[in-house]
Amino acid sequence: MPSVLSLVLAFLPGLALAQSVFIADLTWPEVKQAIASGKTTAIYFAGSTEQNGPHMALGKHNVIAGYLAGRIAEELGNALAYPVLPFAPTGGHLKFPGTVNLSDQTFGAVAQEVAQSAIAAGFKHVVLMGEHGGGQDALRQVAKALDGRGARVHYVADAYSKAQDEIRAYLLTRKLPVGEHAGIEDTSELMFLDREQKWIRRDKLARGDAKSGVDGDPRLASAELGKMFLDIKIAAGVAQIKHRVGKR
Ligand SMILES: [Zn+2]
Repeated sequence: MPSVLSLVLAFLPGLALAQSVFIADLTWPEVKQAIASGKTTAIYFAGSTEQNGPHMALGKHNVIAGYLAGRIAEELGNALAYPVLPFAPTGGHLKFPGTVNLSDQTFGAVAQEVAQSAIAAGFKHVVLMGEHGGGQDALRQVAKALDGRGARVHYVADAYSKAQDEIRAYLLTRKLPVGEHAGIEDTSELMFLDREQKWIRRDKLARGDAKSGVDGDPRLASAELGKMFLDIKIAAGVAQIKHRVGKR
């Protein structure tokens, strides 16, 4: 008579579907098995630790990048995500306390060595993405330098630039204010993800000025808008990755 345990164990391979897409949640045999069973795309997503005005916490990009990486990996079905890099080139934000600035060189070097680690693990495709504007070109250069050296390495910009164009076009049609930083766009996205209400100071929402670090007007930000904007980013990223990975 088979025990209940042996019956459960017999069905374990089927349970792998429910496994986390985040490499940091897995053991190395689980990562090895996942790659062997078809999860051959690695996602590297860079966030940033930077000021976001008096109303929003410095970890904004890291929370958003982690969410996007997970959702994109789930939608693709054949991908795992590395931990988000929490630092990026942030230039002008550095005068606001808490901000961290990496040179393009350091930022690119980290992306390159994580990508090389992914190739060493056996991934066939490595996707490089960035939530923050600074460093996008460095990611493009790294992909160009590494592509074809043991695996395909892709710079995927659409979840950043194409999605941003789409979000701005939506705001304009609704006659809502378009901003460059900590305005209605990113504030809405973090509101949607801020379930424990840790990261937005609702009493500090104000139109931006030179002193506040805000470019835009977050006062009409909402979780509903944020969900829509995040879905635009996910769709843009998934579409570009499918296009690139399909092309061999
Ligand atoms: Zn940024």
